[in-house]
Amino acid sequence: MGFWIGEQHDDGYCPPTIYRWLTPKRSGNSINGLGETDKRRPTPILWHRLKHIEFKLNQLLFQSRFRPRMILQHPGIALHFLRMKRAKKRLKTAQPHPIPHVFDDTTTAVKDMAMVFGADTVGITKLRPDIVFEGYTLPEWAQTALDDGQLYVVVMAVQHDKDCFESAPSWAFSKEIANQYNQGSDLALQVAHWILDKGYRAYGHGGPEGGEFLLHPLAIEAGIGELGKHGSLINPKLGANFRIACVYTTLPLHSDVVSEFGVDDFCTKCQICTKACPPQAINESKKTVRGEEKFYVDFDKCFPYMTDHYGCGICLKECPWSREDVVEKLYRKQQKRLFSNVFDKQVLAIDETVYQPSEEVS
Ligand code: SF4
Ligand code: SF4
Repeated sequence: MGFWIGEQHDDGYCPPTIYRWLTPKRSGNSINGLGETDKRRPTPILWHRLKHIEFKLNQLLFQSRFRPRMILQHPGIALHFLRMKRAKKRLKTAQPHPIPHVFDDTTTAVKDMAMVFGADTVGITKLRPDIVFEGYTLPEWAQTALDDGQLYVVVMAVQHDKDCFESAPSWAFSKEIANQYNQGSDLALQVAHWILDKGYRAYGHGGPEGGEFLLHPLAIEAGIGELGKHGSLINPKLGANFRIACVYTTLPLHSDVVSEFGVDDFCTKCQICTKACPPQAINESKKTVRGEEKFYVDFDKCFPYMTDHYGCGICLKECPWSREDVVEKLYRKQQKRLFSNVFDKQVLAIDETVYQPSEEVS
């Protein structure tokens, strides 16, 4: 096993010694609630302030490999990140316009503005208190709205550049992830300011740092996509090739509905990402996590590999839903399957006319 970089063996990937030295005693899967049958709020594990997380040294190791190179090679992206960070801090105390604007159709207006500001898709839902991270609180105005069941979240997706995405794992993809996190933050800030100008409270958030609540369940409820076996969302147009940003607000909106287009069914039979994942982190079947049955990626296997390989992304790239040449056909096929009685309940073959793996992943 290497000291700085792990090694790939026939039976899997072995993390580097430095990563193992820095790893806390408690496993990441245990922090995430793997195997727990009772529901509870999520515990922050990564991409949060160090005081909130047990994997703080591992997070620092990841950042130490990423940030200096980003600052030297792409200072524009690094500066953009700092600007967004300061702007988000200022937004926390920004006051809405004293006279609320009256809309004909508020929900359509917000979605249109999000698309104008650069979102590739938008959905809306209400925030649930059970997905707010342990140890975190919302600003007072947001907490009051949440307690009243009236805190809305506008969830927005921004797509990665396709060539960078397809090069994963690579520095180009890693840089593109940072770039799209910045774009997402930018977008969230613009939408939040637009809402403030209309007389309602709003706060915008984009990665890479985690916010006060889990974004994936919200994005699913907002109809952005379904959870794939690789632990990321799949959207019928963008596949798994996107990042998420959000705005929470007191502006009254209409929630979208969950969008089910056959991912769950497809994933139960597909094994492309499980086979492509070098550290074998992707579980073949669903697991119980904090009282919910869902697809789950083994944190303790995935994160060391990500740390060594620019954030990885192999599973996202290899997923057939991310392939532009097949996604439409796949979507139609799954729609037929979902809504037609003609199809029986036998195994869905991953038809070679529909999907050809792009290349062998070592
Ligand atoms: S990001 Fe890489 S290591 Fe993590 S689950 Fe996907 S393929 Fe596996
Ligand atoms: S590669 Fe296959 S199993 Fe994995 S998320 Fe995509 S469709 Fe699901």
